[in-house]
Amino acid sequence: MKVLKTQKDLQNQVYLLKAQNQSIGFVPTMGALHEGHLSLIRTARQQCDSTISSIFVNPTQFNDPKDLANYPRNEALDLDKLREANCDFVFIPDITEVYSPNEYWHFDIGKLEQIFEGTSRPGHYQGVTQIVKKFFDWITPNIAFFGQKDYQQFLIIRQLVSHFGLPVQLFCHPTIRESNGLAMSSRNARLNEHERQIAQTLSRTLFDIKAHFADKSIKDLLSEARSKLTNTPELELSYLSICDAETLEETNEKTPAKIIALVAARIGEIRLIDNIILKS
Ligand code: AMP
Repeated sequence: MKVLKTQKDLQNQVYLLKAQNQSIGFVPTMGALHEGHLSLIRTARQQCDSTISSIFVNPTQFNDPKDLANYPRNEALDLDKLREANCDFVFIPDITEVYSPNEYWHFDIGKLEQIFEGTSRPGHYQGVTQIVKKFFDWITPNIAFFGQKDYQQFLIIRQLVSHFGLPVQLFCHPTIRESNGLAMSSRNARLNEHERQIAQTLSRTLFDIKAHFADKSIKDLLSEARSKLTNTPELELSYLSICDAETLEETNEKTPAKIIALVAARIGEIRLIDNIILKS
């Protein structure tokens, strides 16, 4: 696996791959890699001739400086994992390679920025779209791979791609979970054993909603699930909603073609998100 540190090295490599007519799969990450990330890499390898991953803890998408400072980082271990997954290239830029001083970015995301993670983390999706647009421009991947765990992010990147007419196909990879159901996340590393137990309530609640989706009304599903979550000590519910999966508009009807349940909660210092597709 080749480690690329500068934008110039990255773009030279992309040029060589294109000259050899190789299709490029791109998997952006912020490191602290786990099985979720590695599944994306393996899927990219199956679908493309060569795979480029990136590890960059993007400061512009953190609205909480403490979250940025505490974000887990382990470059040496990440590189071992990427090598093991047979990733071809990894881009690990220094911040100065990515941003010039006083850089300004605004992308009109519209409604999707005013709900759920958009309101809980102001400016988060501006930072996400800023970095993804840069990386897409530099890499021009044929397919870019994202996780369903960050479903709202996936919809926003789809909007970014459509707005700029970027020649990239997007792949939404199913969420990889621990054996107890907890959605894998780099932030899980910061949970202690007790918090980890509490965190499982999130996925369990989503699985319950799915199990009863056919026989209960959305109103009942939500009120039962919300009371379960709000009665869980040390879990601070941010939102639990059932939405049209194309627009993330909340729905009381089961008529939309694709329906998703989304949840976010804080457990101690750690904010976790999860979701499940109820109808597709
Ligand atoms: P992150 O490093 O958290 O920015 O995540 C990088 C990519 O991995 C994003 O597209 C995430 O949605 C995806 N990802 C993170 N956790 C999981 C998971 N448990 N299953 C599948 N994809 C994931």
